[in-house]
Amino acid sequence: MKALVFHGPGKLALEDRPTPVIATPTDAIVRITKTTICGTDLHIMKGDVPTVTDGRILGHEGVGVIEQVGASLSNFSVGDRVLISCITSCGKCANCKKGMYSHCENGGGWILGNRIDGTQAEYVRVPFADNSLYPIPAGADEEALVMLSDILPTGFECGVLNGRVKPGDTVAIVGGGPIGLAALLTAQFYSPAEIIMVDVDDNRLEVSKKFGATKVVNNSDGKAAAKVMALTDNRGVDVAIEAVGIPSSFDICQTIVAAGGHIANIGVHGKPVQLNLDKLWAHNITLTTGLVDTVTTPMLLKTVMSGKVQPKQLITHHFALHDVMQAYNTFGNAMKERALKVIITND
Ligand SMILES: [Zn+2]
Ligand SMILES: [Zn+2]
Repeated sequence: MKALVFHGPGKLALEDRPTPVIATPTDAIVRITKTTICGTDLHIMKGDVPTVTDGRILGHEGVGVIEQVGASLSNFSVGDRVLISCITSCGKCANCKKGMYSHCENGGGWILGNRIDGTQAEYVRVPFADNSLYPIPAGADEEALVMLSDILPTGFECGVLNGRVKPGDTVAIVGGGPIGLAALLTAQFYSPAEIIMVDVDDNRLEVSKKFGATKVVNNSDGKAAAKVMALTDNRGVDVAIEAVGIPSSFDICQTIVAAGGHIANIGVHGKPVQLNLDKLWAHNITLTTGLVDTVTTPMLLKTVMSGKVQPKQLITHHFALHDVMQAYNTFGNAMKERALKVIITND
């Protein structure tokens, strides 16, 4: 089969690889129909994720059709159309029982396209398939559902739920990439009064206005924090969602959080940040971190099926699997290419 293979920082290649086979009875082999590239894949390309070793097939998002099932699978059969979660989980260990699938103690968590081969290929082996795949309802738009593998649950769980967005809140989202936009779409479940989007790219800020941001702040001059304070009468925001993963974006969040507010970190940080406890110790704030658990995927699936949330808006480009290198070029130059999510189709 064709697969996108990582060979160390900056080195990717579309190669012929053996089609995966069932390795344990809880596995399923899924024929990928549509997949995508995540910002995390770009981090891997830079060498920021040491668990990804030479020869790994990348990708942790996608939809497809079950080709083979392990002997112990009870939820799925050959031919079922499925959504692949970016988090693989046994559903049985202590952490899974708490809903903390990202820290599955039986070798689950974020493993696809990381510790094991991923979805940017014609086929993928999904361990613990009963708990890590979701049936695709009849009539669903499968492209839209690719947004449910990772970005929608990540924006919702790590941004909106951890940030405890409430009706009437003022929310700032720092970072208008796909994850920040997913937080923007799902924050609106809770009717916040204001959602302020912060980014350096005017195109992304325009898109975020269409998606429901009430105000936008361009941070090209590095003065976003002062601008957000001015927009909030120097009160700050009830919820500051960090969706970039660099020290300066975290710094904006800790500067603009109001007394009693929440900082919800989503960004993948490669460097330490300074936490200004000298200012925050008496500010009654909460800071949350976490990898997505994808426990909200079934709920989000219903909101997408009903049209309440329309994640298809995030898709800007389409490629065939044999053009996956071109897809990486486009996604890697997102600002110039005006790219949000790209769909890669395996026909
Ligand atoms: Zn991802
Ligand atoms: Zn588990």
